Amino acid sequence: MISETAALAAVLAEIFPKPGVRAPLIDSLGRFSARDLRALRALPPFDNSAMDGYAVIAASCREEARLRVVGEQSAGLDLRLTMKAGEAIRIFTGAPMPSGADAVLMQEDATREGETVVVRSAVAEGEFVRRKGCDLASGQKILTRGDEINPQILGLLASQGIAEIEVGARPRVSIVATGDELARLGDMPLPGQIFESNSIMLQALVLSAGGEVTMVEHAPDRLEPLTEILRRGLQSDVLIVSGGVSVGDRDLVKPSLGTLGAKIDLWRVAIKPGKPFLFGRAPGCSIFGLPGNPVSAFVTFLRFVRPALRKMAGASEENLGLGTATAQLAGDLANGGDRPHYLRGRLHAGVFTVTGRQESHALFGLSQANALLSVEPGEELAKGASVIVEIFA
Ligand code: AMP
Ligand code: MG
Repeated sequence: MISETAALAAVLAEIFPKPGVRAPLIDSLGRFSARDLRALRALPPFDNSAMDGYAVIAASCREEARLRVVGEQSAGLDLRLTMKAGEAIRIFTGAPMPSGADAVLMQEDATREGETVVVRSAVAEGEFVRRKGCDLASGQKILTRGDEINPQILGLLASQGIAEIEVGARPRVSIVATGDELARLGDMPLPGQIFESNSIMLQALVLSAGGEVTMVEHAPDRLEPLTEILRRGLQSDVLIVSGGVSVGDRDLVKPSLGTLGAKIDLWRVAIKPGKPFLFGRAPGCSIFGLPGNPVSAFVTFLRFVRPALRKMAGASEENLGLGTATAQLAGDLANGGDRPHYLRGRLHAGVFTVTGRQESHALFGLSQANALLSVEPGEELAKGASVIVEIFA
């Protein structure tokens, strides 16, 4: 059986970024820059005051000095005021510095007496002046291809006067949930049936991984209808199938994909939960077969599908995986099995606690979790041990 690392490498080797598209800033949130970008203008774009107070010449600002107030500059249109020694200009935060001034006397350190201001505390040159370009120089790199666009980057782009950028196009994804035992949401389950819950979870996972869901279908465990539905699913960039990839007689996804001429690159990975994971390809479509057990589907999505969707959406290598955090274990943990075990748990205040049952059908435990911990075969971890967990919510 192939290792998780080898399986992920094999998957990613067949995944290629989609072309870039222009998007208004707010639509680029959570997506990936399709280009390197350089600053069009310096930040701040001009020298300005960091305080409400008086623009002054520091050399004439010893304590108790009296300065004549010769004008006022607020934040807004630059009045192009000028001043000389012995003078001051009333100024406000963000207002352009008058020419001749080299510092700002903050108003808390000044006493106003009519047209005169009295300096109560000496001022050093440059004090409370935000110099043009001190934060960012014009031409400096502000974005690298593959960077994830977050709210703070959006703020920076707007400060540059940029209203739209080129980001990777969203992968189009079809989702097919297989299983005769599955009742659709809204229908009454027949005796022996359960509600179909993977497709909604997978839709949400696809959206949060930057994909666009173009088709969601439920397929029975019968070759003909399943094949017809999968055929339609192959029209998207990505087809995700849940269930039917195990070794049972009713696990028909592989034969069905075979009928459709798809190539199966890998099947079965040394990972728990998620052993029956399948990856294959048809022209223009990458195919992911996830085990039907909800926790297995969730974990294999995070391990394989999420990085693939992010790569397709233009993410750089370092942006493919989940974020990590160091945590202390709330209790002893061990893996007596022969595959790495991804335990689901909750990271809170630096402590990781497994949530509920750790079997692949145990959806409630998963619903309480926000992080994964991989425990290697034979590994024993004691309460309080320091571990690295991966965060998914
Ligand atoms: P399978 O991988 O098809 O053998 O399914 C494994 C287990 O997952 C079975 O107990 C199924 O009933 C369950 N299962 C499969 N698909 C779904 C689904 N879409 N929603 C909820 N449970 C599912
Ligand atoms: Mg099934």
